[in-house]
Amino acid sequence: MGGIETERELSVYESMAARFDVAARKLHLDEGLTRYLRCPNREIIVHIPVEMDDGSVEVFDGYRVQHSIARGPCKGGVRYSPNVTLDEIRGLAAEMTWKCAIVNIPFGGAKGGVACDPEKLSRGELERITRRYTAEILDYIGPERDVPAPDMNTDEQIMAWMMDTYSMHVRHTVTASVTGKPIDLGGSRGRREATGRGCMICCDQALKRFGKPVESTRVIVQGFGNVGSQAARLMHRAGYKITGVSDIHGGVFNARGLDIPSLLDHVSESKSVTDFPGGEPVDGAEFLELDCDVLIPAATESVIHSRNASRIKARILVEGANSPTTPPADDILFDRGVFVIPDILANAGGVTVSYFEWVQDRQGYYWSESDVNEKLRTIQVAAFNDVVRYGEKHAVNNRIAGYMLAIDRVAFALKLRGIYA
Ligand code: NAD
Repeated sequence: MGGIETERELSVYESMAARFDVAARKLHLDEGLTRYLRCPNREIIVHIPVEMDDGSVEVFDGYRVQHSIARGPCKGGVRYSPNVTLDEIRGLAAEMTWKCAIVNIPFGGAKGGVACDPEKLSRGELERITRRYTAEILDYIGPERDVPAPDMNTDEQIMAWMMDTYSMHVRHTVTASVTGKPIDLGGSRGRREATGRGCMICCDQALKRFGKPVESTRVIVQGFGNVGSQAARLMHRAGYKITGVSDIHGGVFNARGLDIPSLLDHVSESKSVTDFPGGEPVDGAEFLELDCDVLIPAATESVIHSRNASRIKARILVEGANSPTTPPADDILFDRGVFVIPDILANAGGVTVSYFEWVQDRQGYYWSESDVNEKLRTIQVAAFNDVVRYGEKHAVNNRIAGYMLAIDRVAFALKLRGIYA
């Protein structure tokens, strides 16, 4: 891998469970509820046979884990990656439950994935994998049950194929069956930028707390996909100085600030940030340790771990990716006074606008982009303040505060509903 060093000190599920246990203990959550919330409602494993372009048949492993429906239908992305495992999807599904509760939207959490390498697949093969995966999990998804969305290596086109496959099976068009669709198929304005925009809104709020102006704030962004490129684009436009960005092939750095619009043009031609003439190349391993004020990991999990956490220079960490920091690294960052905006808060803009998309599709009435952005800002600022105040009140860091607040809300819904027997 030309990119970053990752270290699985704990698996994604183990990291989630370790944080959950700390938060549940601090909440004095009763033992039965702790057992209930620690594990998912349902785990689906499918084996997807696909005819490849050369006529051979391959079988891909696919997963959908539904963690909780306590507060509403499940919601969560689908990722395509060679490294996808059930454990990872299980951890991310639970994180979706906590994320939806933090931004207080009426969804539970789910996550899906297919173990495949999209870089090695043709468009036709990707479409066949997507349609068969959707067909295999069809009985368990839908607007009232579980609503998939894009995640790593999945995009609007893949969501369009999922929506079409679902609709063909139920014999009518159901735009609310998935989110993150193209706008012409019931997608929401502002969804593409939503996760990056949410990261920026959180960062703005953190700077406000520290009385630091945007213009003198240097930002490093790891990952230049949906989340990273949009965060960099919006923050550059808002006056932040984006000094470094990277992708799986390597990084680029300019102490005076990168010209992000030119970099976006470069990436749309060359498909990578490397070789951008407006900065110097940086090795993936050193990238996270570059001097900066704000670090936004927006690539993949477990990139900040016990071996590099003490070398991170940023004073504010905005977790665009899911689970980028391991629990041992959390402790190191906390001791060093780094202000961590945890993933379940920082990257919740995506699921928030996915919720808006689901609402619009169900109403058949579409909102303007400024309406969407304004509603997102209101929710994201409220969630930021809720988490930070909760942390201050209970003397815990932002990560544990986020978990406590979310678990409290989900447990309250479960208590009201009771356990169906
Ligand atoms: P993406 O596939 O669009 O982009 C991922 C980027 O990270 C690419 O630039 C890729 O080159 C880079 N990358 C991947 N592995 C890397 C590695 N090992 N080293 C360096 N760079 C690497 O994915 P995305 O949708 O932007 O998602 C990124 C992260 O954000 C994931 O953790 C995802 O779960 C999380 N997330 C995404 C959304 C969303 O709306 N897309 C919402 C919430 C959270």
